[in-house]
Amino acid sequence: MSVPDDAVVRPVARMDEPLSRVLGERSAAPLAKLGLRTTGDLLRHYPRRYSEPGTLTDLASLAIGEHVTVMAQVQQATVREMRSRGGAMLQAVVTDGSRSLHLTFFAKRRGALRLHEQRLLPGRTGMFTGVVSDYRGQRQLTHPDYQLVGVDADDEAAALVEASRPIPIYPASAAAPTWRVQRCVRTVLDPLTDADLPDPLPDQVRERHGLAGLREALQLVHEPYDDDEWRRGLKRLRYEEAFVLQAELARRRARTAQQEAVARPRVPGRLLDLFDERLPFTLTAGQHEVGAVLAEELAGAHPMQRLLQGEVGSGKTVVALRAMLQVVDAGGQAALLAPTEVLAAQHVRTLRALLGDLAEGGFLGGTDVSTRVALLTGSQGAAARRENLLDAASGRAGIVVGTHALLTDTVQFADLGLVVVDEQHRFGVEQRDLLRAKAAQTPHLLVMTATPIPRTVAMTVFGDLETSTLREIPAGRSGVTTHVVPADNAAWVERAWQRVREEVDRGGRAYVVCPRIDPDDEKAPRRGRDDDGADLLADDLLEGLGGSAGGPGDGGPPARQLRSVVEVAAELRARPALSGVQVGELHGRMSPDEKERALADFAAGRVPVLVSTTVIEVGVDVPEATVMVVLDADRFGISQLHQLRGRIGRGSAPGLCLLVASAPDGTPAATRLATLAATSDGFELAAVDLGLRREGDVLGAAQSGAASSLRLLRVTRDAQVIADARADARELVDADPELDGWPALRAAIDQQLAGEREEFLDRA
Ligand code: ADP
Ligand code: MG
Repeated sequence: MSVPDDAVVRPVARMDEPLSRVLGERSAAPLAKLGLRTTGDLLRHYPRRYSEPGTLTDLASLAIGEHVTVMAQVQQATVREMRSRGGAMLQAVVTDGSRSLHLTFFAKRRGALRLHEQRLLPGRTGMFTGVVSDYRGQRQLTHPDYQLVGVDADDEAAALVEASRPIPIYPASAAAPTWRVQRCVRTVLDPLTDADLPDPLPDQVRERHGLAGLREALQLVHEPYDDDEWRRGLKRLRYEEAFVLQAELARRRARTAQQEAVARPRVPGRLLDLFDERLPFTLTAGQHEVGAVLAEELAGAHPMQRLLQGEVGSGKTVVALRAMLQVVDAGGQAALLAPTEVLAAQHVRTLRALLGDLAEGGFLGGTDVSTRVALLTGSQGAAARRENLLDAASGRAGIVVGTHALLTDTVQFADLGLVVVDEQHRFGVEQRDLLRAKAAQTPHLLVMTATPIPRTVAMTVFGDLETSTLREIPAGRSGVTTHVVPADNAAWVERAWQRVREEVDRGGRAYVVCPRIDPDDEKAPRRGRDDDGADLLADDLLEGLGGSAGGPGDGGPPARQLRSVVEVAAELRARPALSGVQVGELHGRMSPDEKERALADFAAGRVPVLVSTTVIEVGVDVPEATVMVVLDADRFGISQLHQLRGRIGRGSAPGLCLLVASAPDGTPAATRLATLAATSDGFELAAVDLGLRREGDVLGAAQSGAASSLRLLRVTRDAQVIADARADARELVDADPELDGWPALRAAIDQQLAGEREEFLDRA
């Protein structure tokens, strides 16, 4: 696409005009409570839905609660002050010749009713639309919409057309009911011209997809004559949302691609080679392939920006470690960012175990070629922290692992060359950027996630990253069998604990997962967060990083007391089936040391049954773990349960996952569990999950920065729109990387992404 010659910086002032100026303080104040402050805010406040205008109704047949439209004549209209309630009320009586209907309007002040008073003159005929209610035996419409013949419409036919238009229903409040919002929108929109509303979509793009212009689309959406109109308007506005976001992602990607990075080519005969030689298994084909891609990108002079997704257990850690070693060999350092302290500590253990004496740099027994793995977490003791900080700052530690504590100002690196972010779904873009800012030049970036991300979500959330996928699971895994156990079937439940016993006797370990920590846990998952029915599960897991781990909580009996770690652990210790078996606990309210110890005892087999919250969801790796019992399983989402069960069957023994739940058949919760029992393909489950969840849950609070600005676009539904918009946006950005020729698009980016700007835009 070419830059138009006549591209000039057009003013966008009209969109930024305060509503108080356009509408007056009195009308603007209630809108401000809805967060609508400017013309642009109001015009982008789209109807939530459209109400059927209702068929023309005979007054005799009015049913309470029905949305109706009637043609009738005004008999009288009177305004009176309401002494008891304060404010004023206008009551009009309309008639079809035999029966009558009351129309009622309330206002704070008498003056506010003057317009209706002047319009609803006795003898005038009109179409009145509203929901029928009953007031002391009298049918009435409260705040009906209406069209008057000879005033708003030339004749009855015209009034009929007017009255049969779909009625936009706006997200509203008591102070700004939908009909008032609608009136304000009209007042603001009607006088605006195309020139007042510069279109962020380039003409070529609009024409390519047959989309309406901006002014027209707003008109269609706010003041449609029929359903096709608002659909056409929405189609265009939805595309615009996708396009504006993709344009910014493309611009961001292009910018980073132009940045310089220190090339970290593979150096033969050093850590990576030594590591490969002693690797106890052969890499899978996928690990090889992705490894080659990473190796090449790390050797490049521009920063790598890659997302690695792979099924739980697909061996991402080894891939990441090999990339880190390449960087260390080339003289740089790598930082590995983990979402929780448990996971960070485990990463250190895993990396040290994999590296052996290669990780004993500076220690007795270290090889000539060796490095150190440092751990930095928030709860570390001062002495350990000081030493690790020094290791990082001096460059002695080639690999520095940590939680968000790595992001604090005190942490410095000698030469940070690669940032690896594990389990991105717990991290915001913001944290990622903070860490990247710690290097003199943009470091290479590898983001890893075990939650298979459907393509469109990846394009929306990680639009600036290239994606690699590990599809196969290393050979020698026996997989996991999953069964649903009805919670109210005592015999089945008893059998579940016997199975735990059998596995323990065989040398295996068992996880028991509960949704809460203790019975009167304040942080217990609340059923129904706002209106989306999602639970906030196990807040402790998140350790303050933000983001909800919950799945939809539909289906279960609402008042049920959820099982807790403390309670269940006590119960299991008393169970005959488990007599003599040590039962441990793990949850986010324990100190890091306690958590460490609990996991170590479990891993070593001293305490083979571990009752825990979803703390273990992410990345915990104990190969001997063979059974998992999830209590109140209907309280968890599909992806979360899939992650959880990925903790078992990691060694050569097959895994058994028992989902104990009381969701009645046919409920969404029961369907989720049945789906899990039936398939182990993470990508398939992600697709199902996507279909069942609401947008916010799909994207996750912590990573939805860019996506939270989406009002009309649904990644669950608009895959094609997103793909088209991405292609169009990349084409545009290729021709004009900073979008200099597209001021309206740039303005739209600023506006659409306003709240997210700080975290969203590249800081480097
Ligand atoms: P995830 O992708 O879930 O992070 P991990 O990296 O933790 O998976 O790997 C899971 C387990 O599989 C680890 O114990 C790891 O050592 C092992 N593993 C990784 N790659 C291979 C392989 N190619 N062959 C056999 N085992 C492997
Ligand atoms: Mg992992």
